[in-house]
Amino acid sequence: MGLEAIELSWLDLHLRRPHRTSYGTDVARPVVLVRVRGDGLEGWGECAAFAAPTYTEEYAAGAWAVTVDHLAPRLLAAGVGEAGPDRPDGWVAWAAEVADAVAGVVGHPMAKAALELAVVDARLRAGGWPLADALGVTAPSVEAGAVVGTRDTVDEVVAEVAALVEAGYGRVKLKIDRGWDLEPVRAVRDAFGSLRLQVDANGAYGGEDAAHLAGLDRFGLLCLEQPCPADDLAGSAAVAARLDTPVCLDESITSPARLEICLALGAGDMVCLKPGRVGGLGPALAIHDRCLEAGVPLWCGGMLETGLARAANAALAGLPGMALPGDLGGGDRFEEGDPAGALAVTDGRVAVWRGPGVGPVPDPDRLAVVTTARATVTA
Ligand code: MG
Repeated sequence: MGLEAIELSWLDLHLRRPHRTSYGTDVARPVVLVRVRGDGLEGWGECAAFAAPTYTEEYAAGAWAVTVDHLAPRLLAAGVGEAGPDRPDGWVAWAAEVADAVAGVVGHPMAKAALELAVVDARLRAGGWPLADALGVTAPSVEAGAVVGTRDTVDEVVAEVAALVEAGYGRVKLKIDRGWDLEPVRAVRDAFGSLRLQVDANGAYGGEDAAHLAGLDRFGLLCLEQPCPADDLAGSAAVAARLDTPVCLDESITSPARLEICLALGAGDMVCLKPGRVGGLGPALAIHDRCLEAGVPLWCGGMLETGLARAANAALAGLPGMALPGDLGGGDRFEEGDPAGALAVTDGRVAVWRGPGVGPVPDPDRLAVVTTARATVTA
C-alpha cells in the first residue's frame, strides 16, 4: 500500500455519564480519529488517549501533535505493505512495518496504535476480512462487562449495579479509591452474592497498603486491578504476595518488555490488555501469546472508545488467553451519539464484528456534526 495521506479528525465528544476514578473525572471525551489513504485503499483508526494526561502521560491534544509532526511523516516516508501474504493474517506484517516506521519516536503508544489500527484496517478491508478472522477468533460473541465509577454514596453504587444486572451484565467492575473501597464493595457483595465482581484502584495505593487491601479478600473478587502506580512494580508485588485476590496489572503493562519485568517480579497475577496502551494490535497479540504461554490469564480492557475501536476490542476478547470477561459495555456513551455506532449487549454478550476491517466505518454525517478540527499529512 503506497500511503498517500494520513488525515486526522478531532471528534468533540462528551460522555453521557461522567467517568469518575481515583485519578479524576472525565466528561469531555475528545477522540482523535485517523484515516489512512493510498492505492485506492482506506483504513480507519482511533486514538485511545483521554482529554487529560491523568490515566497515563498521553492526552488527545498531545497525540494529535506528535502524530502530525512526527509519526505520520515517518510512516508516510517508510510506507507499508510492499510484501506480505495475501491472507487475513498478513496484517501482522503490516502492523510490524508501522511499528518499525515510528520506532524512532520514544513513547506515545496510543498515538502509534491509532496509526497501526488504521493501516491494519486498510489491509483487512482490502481483502474483505474481519479482524476476528485475522485473529482466528470464531466465537460469534463475547461476554460483556460493565464498569461503575466512584460515586458520592454507596446507595448510588448499589443502585447502578442493580440496573446493570437487570440489563444482563454478569460481570461488574467497581472503581475504588482511598476511602472508597471496602464499604462500597461490601454493600454490592451483600446485595449480589453471586455476581462476578472485580475492583480497579487505578494506582491509588502503595505496597504499604497491602494489609488494608487484604480486607478485600473476603468478597470473592475476580481481581484487584492496578493497586499501585504504573511504575511501582515492587509495591504491586508486595500487594500480590499479601492478597488471596489476584492482582491484575493494567497501567503497568505498557509493552511486551514491561510484561517480562512484571512476570519476573511477581508484580501481578493477571493482565488487562488494551491495544492502545501497549502500542497497537501487534504488541497486544504478542502480550497475549506470552501470557498464554506463561499461564497468566488476560482480559480485554476499554478506553471509552467509539464503536470502531470497541469492535476491535471485542474481537481481541475472543482470543484463547482471554480467561475473563472484558470491559465491553453496550449502549451509546456519548452525548452526541457514537459516530461508529454503539455496541449492543444482548443476554450479557457483545457480538463480534464480522464485517470487513477492524470495525464499522464511522458515519460521515455523524462525523460532520462532531468534528471540530482536521489535519492532513501527505507523502
Ligand atoms: Mg484499569
